[in-house]
Amino acid sequence: MHITKQDQLNHMLTLRIVELTIVTLICAILIRPLLSEIHPYFLWIELIDLALATVFYFIIRAGFLDKWKISISLTASNLLILPLLVISGGVNSQLAFFLPLIPIMAALIGGRLESLVVGFILITAIILATVFGDSIMDLNDHIYSDEKTISRSFWLIITIVFSMIFGRFFLQKYTELTDQLKDENLQDPLTKLLNRRGLSLHFEKELDKTNTDSPLSLMIIDIDYFKKINDFHGHNIGDLCLIEVANILKNALRKNDIIARFGGEEFIAILPKTSKIEAITIAETLRRKVSENTYSELELPLTITLGLTESKPENETTLKIIKRADKALYKGKNKGRNRVELSED
Ligand code: GH3
Ligand code: MG
Ligand code: MG
Repeated sequence: MHITKQDQLNHMLTLRIVELTIVTLICAILIRPLLSEIHPYFLWIELIDLALATVFYFIIRAGFLDKWKISISLTASNLLILPLLVISGGVNSQLAFFLPLIPIMAALIGGRLESLVVGFILITAIILATVFGDSIMDLNDHIYSDEKTISRSFWLIITIVFSMIFGRFFLQKYTELTDQLKDENLQDPLTKLLNRRGLSLHFEKELDKTNTDSPLSLMIIDIDYFKKINDFHGHNIGDLCLIEVANILKNALRKNDIIARFGGEEFIAILPKTSKIEAITIAETLRRKVSENTYSELELPLTITLGLTESKPENETTLKIIKRADKALYKGKNKGRNRVELSED
């Protein structure tokens, strides 16, 4: 099973929540008798609850769980605390203050659906506790007025709904932010192409999909005599040229091709489901387009050299492909630049 960082985080959060449940139960068992007279019946329920929570804790700890299992775990761990709520006075229990936190936790650990389900369970529990509250109060030997109970349940339900909405809102913002961070993390800030990290991520995936019937081609593209541009016209003009070359390359490639900035003035293009014969035509188009353009406000001419290779059916690694393409590029440079060179092996 593939375990993502999110799964690990969820696993850890669930454990913390169950730990809190256990601590609350222990406090209830130890402290409550000091504060008020308690029927032994409650003590037994609390002890059973504690035993259940502890067993549950070790079950979660034993291994990583799927997302849905974690969501169920969370729901179950919330339900564990409900008996305690009931025996300590239903909605009038101090424990009820904790309830509005739970939909937010559910949103964090599970997602929108989990937050909704948990919220719904809690609201049902509160309504039941309000309707059948009398019997609970009697058991607990506390006298609460109906009015106070109804008012409490009302505000509890409002707060829980609020927490569900907030959970959703939080999740949406959180997803947007992490998506943005992920993109930024994989993007080269200058050219807006993928960076090396972004490349390796996509490359691994593409290589996994590749088979004998549909090979993949890769080219390393290096701008010719780029150092001279910097030396003669300065780094800013150099940067502009880089951006413009990157745009030309990106626009000339097909939708499913992947282009990344591999280093200074070097780019890598991955062409999925493309044989070397097709790739040569594409590489020639790139070479021609770059050489036909001029760059920056100084209208400088630029050319590129491309080293090209095709994936092999067996024992292929990203490193090996890049090495072959790099060798071809080196050959192209030696042969005079502004050309496409195919790898020999
Ligand atoms: P060749 O034809 O052999 O590739 O010659 P070259 O001058 O392009 O090769 P070399 O690798 O010696 O120089 C690459 C230069 O690219 C060096 C550096 O000044 C420049 N460069 C690398 N990254 C950047 C960048 O982000 N901005 C600018 N302006 N220049 C960069
Ligand atoms: Mg160069
Ligand atoms: Mg270079």
